[in-house]
Amino acid sequence: MIRFNVFSEPADRRRNPNFGEVRQFSFKLSGISKFGEVHSDRLALVAILCTLPFCSEELKVSWPVSQRFREATKVISRIKVIFSEGSIEPLERQNSGRHALSFSGGADSTAALAVMPNSTELVFMLRSKSRARTLYDSHAALESCRQLRNLGYTVHIVESDFEYLRSPIGFPTDLAVASPTILLADSRKFESVAFGTILESAFGTSGSRYRNYVDSSHYRLWSTLFQSVALGYSLPVAGVSEVGSAILCRDHPIGRFHQSCIRGKWEEPCNKCWKCFRKNTLMAALEGSDMPNSSIDSIRKSKEVRRNLIEKKPIRHEGVLTYSLQRISGGGEIIQSLRDLVRVGAIETDWMEYWYPPSSGLIDEDYEQTSVGLLKKYLGEMVKSNIDDLHSWHNETSDDRETRLSRFIRLI
Ligand SMILES: [Zn+2]
Repeated sequence: MIRFNVFSEPADRRRNPNFGEVRQFSFKLSGISKFGEVHSDRLALVAILCTLPFCSEELKVSWPVSQRFREATKVISRIKVIFSEGSIEPLERQNSGRHALSFSGGADSTAALAVMPNSTELVFMLRSKSRARTLYDSHAALESCRQLRNLGYTVHIVESDFEYLRSPIGFPTDLAVASPTILLADSRKFESVAFGTILESAFGTSGSRYRNYVDSSHYRLWSTLFQSVALGYSLPVAGVSEVGSAILCRDHPIGRFHQSCIRGKWEEPCNKCWKCFRKNTLMAALEGSDMPNSSIDSIRKSKEVRRNLIEKKPIRHEGVLTYSLQRISGGGEIIQSLRDLVRVGAIETDWMEYWYPPSSGLIDEDYEQTSVGLLKKYLGEMVKSNIDDLHSWHNETSDDRETRLSRFIRLI
């Protein structure tokens, strides 16, 4: 087990009144996996990933790091990162051919696994239970870990409570979920860490505008820091939309070992949450069936689904909903109104089925060719017109959209 202690200063507590003066968070291994000796630079990266948003001016790391890591942290502009005196030898990238995937059990990380080398090791972060969290259920994810182990994959399960640093609870930074992988990288000689980040998140199309991910501050920050601790930052499915990720999970042999819903039990998704709504609608579109009754019901009955449809502008992953509703028939007046809201018929969505080739540079070069081969085999490449549609993606609020939204609200 590895435990971190966090001491806050008055300025930090003004920023986050709930944080408290002293906090702890830890990482606990189960099974035969071992952390061994973890390099100071990697310990410091985990400290940054888990506490950065809580710091108001300075983050003092109470152990020395290498000059290389110290330099790399200058990429953080909002606060100053300070380390104890002394210098450590920096890490050099291992030549082990062993790569890791930060695995969640969901469709996107399973799609990433499907296009990675067979020797990829999975690291699953088990979220510690507490009274504060009643809806999350790790049953399905653990079952998917167990089944992948049976297939011969090495799966590490690390329990952590770092989500409780935040109020309301949740990941401090989106990549904090990689902390267990970083802590295992020394003993497992990992060369890189992969994430199941899909196109909508990397390239901005789940929101209002396309962005070139490599120009973003997110990429600059984290790829620099991961590289400085000798770990490649790899996004094998950054060129795959949620539609493509569902196609990969449908067609690849390991695809069935996933479950999107984190509320229900294995093979018993709750059919009420926002993830189930999106997934059921998308699967119906891919199967060419009618609008599923469960999706219509959840618009009427699930507060969470209604909130996502009504309050989010744009709706998160709205494009995927456009893709689905365009291809599904039926559903009556409510669904027709939802179709109008998400611009069915007015925008192109075919591009979501194919792989976006300019994303190949985001895959660790050690296995880039393997992944590209599999992505082309399962999805095919976007042609120029698809790429133009993707690049011109925009979805901003407008008076016209507000009118369509009020019509939809009146019906539900
Ligand atoms: Zn669900």
